[in-house]
Amino acid sequence: MTERIYNFSAGPGVLPLPVLEEAQRNLVSLPGVGMSVLEISHRSKTFDKIIEGAEAKIRKLLNLSDDFYVLFLQGGASLQFSMIPMNLLSKGGKADYINTGAWSKAAIKEAKKVGQINVAASTESENFARIPKQEELKLDKEAAYVHITSNNTIFGTEWQYDPEVGNVALVCDASSDIFSRPIDMSRYALIYAGAQKNMGPAGVTMVIIRKDLVKEPASDMATMLAYKTHTETKSMYNTPPVFSIYIVDLVCQWILDLGGLDAMQKLNQEKAKILYDAIDATEFYRGHAHSDSRSLMNVTFRLPNEELENLFAKQSTAAGLDGLKGHRSVGGLRASIYNAFPKAGVEALVEFMKEFERKNG
Ligand SMILES: *Cc1c(COP(=O)(O)O)cnc(C)c1O
Repeated sequence: MTERIYNFSAGPGVLPLPVLEEAQRNLVSLPGVGMSVLEISHRSKTFDKIIEGAEAKIRKLLNLSDDFYVLFLQGGASLQFSMIPMNLLSKGGKADYINTGAWSKAAIKEAKKVGQINVAASTESENFARIPKQEELKLDKEAAYVHITSNNTIFGTEWQYDPEVGNVALVCDASSDIFSRPIDMSRYALIYAGAQKNMGPAGVTMVIIRKDLVKEPASDMATMLAYKTHTETKSMYNTPPVFSIYIVDLVCQWILDLGGLDAMQKLNQEKAKILYDAIDATEFYRGHAHSDSRSLMNVTFRLPNEELENLFAKQSTAAGLDGLKGHRSVGGLRASIYNAFPKAGVEALVEFMKEFERKNG
């Protein structure tokens, strides 16, 4: 087998090795089909089984009731920034957004083109180092929905609670922590996630939407942008990203085989603890996120100065720890340790950190 290095990329992120191996085995010919998944019709029985299987596994993982549709769309999480307000806001409608990072900001920017957007809380003045507390949320009872970003990929913060929003629909961008822990779907009206961080390759975006939110679109709405188009055609109005959905199906099976989302969360907590403990053990490393807002997926930390941070990034890459350089808006380092990232890789990073401090501290 080809050697694999430790891939700390924030996205597209690491995929489970058994999934890659199965895809490789079946790439030229799906068993019993005689054609590659890359070559089959999306209207074929084979693909029907794949997309229905992926949906069934997602429903099982989330314990999802029949009140929800599961959609496989394109355009990334970024297109959802527009589709959500276009579909959920009536003319002149209002929505609340909680601003916890760059992706929240991008969602707010698009929503403002559609309706009246109230930023119900923001931690921007603290460089998004924490998630606001429930008491800080200035929610509007008349809002059509409240939008949150459950995990802030760039800043390394994650919501540790489901916000209380009364009867207002709660909408969540879960692109970078989907399937990393259980979600109480009874609290949410819409959850969306680009697949490429934690559930598959780029090219497909999962949207889980409560049925009562799917309305007849306005007559001037582009067909492809209406949720109704996709719920009525089971995500097959046009050609769906067949290969990406196939991999999502395999990833979901991999999580189910591990024991589902409770087991996944336990593994993620173990991995993150190893790394956060190492950061907390010394003054040399400083976490960006407040400890009550720390992400299990993206661990952001600083070193005493930028020069050392650059040296760390360079030497860690050379040591087979790839993708640790932080995003420019935080600086420092970021270790993305998604579901498929192995515990041995976290241990290797911690060893590297100790050695680096010994030499440079
Ligand atoms: C990466 C990311 C996005 C953007 O996703 P695309 O699929 O590239 O549009 C949106 N939100 C969050 C939280 C992300 O991590």
